[in-house]
Amino acid sequence: MASSLRSRGDKWGHDCVRPNMPAQSPAMNSNTSLPVIMPQIAGQQWSCHSCGDCCRTLVGDLTNDECASLDAHPWEDKIGAKPYVRIGRRAALNKRADGSCVFLDDQNRCIIHAQLGEQAKPLACRIFPFSVRRVENAWQASFRFDCPSASASKGKPISQYSSWLTALTQQLPYDYQLKKHDALDRGLLASQDEVAIITSRLSRWVKEKDLPVHARLIALSRVAVTLYDAKLVNVRGVRLGELLDILWQSATHGIDQPPAESTTRQRAMLRQLAFVHAEFVTLDELRAGLVGQMRKRWKQLNAARRFFAGKSTVPTLPGITGQATFEEVNAISPASQTSDVSELIERYLMSRTTSRSVFGSGYYGWPLAAGMAALTVSVSAIGWLARLQCAASGRSQLQLEDVTLAVAIVDRAATRLPAVGFAAERARIRYLTVEDGLARLLHSYPICAETT
Ligand code: SF4
Repeated sequence: MASSLRSRGDKWGHDCVRPNMPAQSPAMNSNTSLPVIMPQIAGQQWSCHSCGDCCRTLVGDLTNDECASLDAHPWEDKIGAKPYVRIGRRAALNKRADGSCVFLDDQNRCIIHAQLGEQAKPLACRIFPFSVRRVENAWQASFRFDCPSASASKGKPISQYSSWLTALTQQLPYDYQLKKHDALDRGLLASQDEVAIITSRLSRWVKEKDLPVHARLIALSRVAVTLYDAKLVNVRGVRLGELLDILWQSATHGIDQPPAESTTRQRAMLRQLAFVHAEFVTLDELRAGLVGQMRKRWKQLNAARRFFAGKSTVPTLPGITGQATFEEVNAISPASQTSDVSELIERYLMSRTTSRSVFGSGYYGWPLAAGMAALTVSVSAIGWLARLQCAASGRSQLQLEDVTLAVAIVDRAATRLPAVGFAAERARIRYLTVEDGLARLLHSYPICAETT
């Protein structure tokens, strides 16, 4: 979130990773020796440029200790608003009527940071756009693209944040978000070695420079489809890696033959999936109570029906500026700045694969095949949402800015928004595995002009 030292162009006002973290609270944890596994995203850079976007759009969750720290300071007198709100058992930083955090000042500076220093800010603010979750004997870090400096890759190489993140994780409870369900298939858990084998294969495939990124995704979708029917119980350990190698070779063979056009129903399913990815829950909606939530649910059901029908004007979506019809969205051509756009998609894919958020505990507990299929669908959703923003801006060809916005929307939701992991979404994706639907959709909504 926004820095109090904006002019120095860094989230913390330092030119290097902040070395001095607060002393560990013995009550909180005992994880000092756990390393942080950083996502390996070639060329990815980031520093906070104090745009204030995250302070305006995201809900900043607080721990009880953080609420107590805020209570110990006369914030309400200073900022003229309650510093946080409680929603059931949850607590979050309060927002102003325009959606911005009550601690954001008119120069995009964080008032807590300005008055008490960076270490006084809630962890959710300090860690963004990274996040961490516990895996077996380490903290797995993820990186988010819903920060403009992250999607534009502006700042320092993210590898330089490793020691800073390691220090920050010392404030987390030892079992923070620990889930041990990396499912290969229903009732079949992957060992840590197998997770490493799968991760290395996925990341090798998504950066295979011999193929355009579009072709890599089509091949990935076909490997996913084959895995749905594979009996993985008989293929464990290194044999799993050998199977994946064979499937990849087979999927990339003859990849220059374009898939058939997607069917009307496949496109309707994709529109609904894109709609779910664009969902966004504001603090006001969280506070609206049961009646407000029922009202929102009713609106969502109506919008979902309109997305399925695909007629007339596209319902308003959070993050999309302007309006367009479904016909206008379908008429948008892929981007011609292929290198910039491909590089962004590749960074998104590397982020998902190397932060182990494709399947299992990193993706709603979904099995390997379903998670891989969901990853390829997420790129088709990016293609559709980018077209929507392009059409709503009155243009006819995708630009980098449209794709950047769509990546931010989808990355904000995938792995984080509960609705994306619902059984209904998994069933929709399963439907799309029939008749080469995943590949056909990638072909119907290509992001770059270079598709072979
Ligand atoms: S969105 Fe990114 S660049 Fe903007 S204030 Fe937040 S962390 Fe900094």
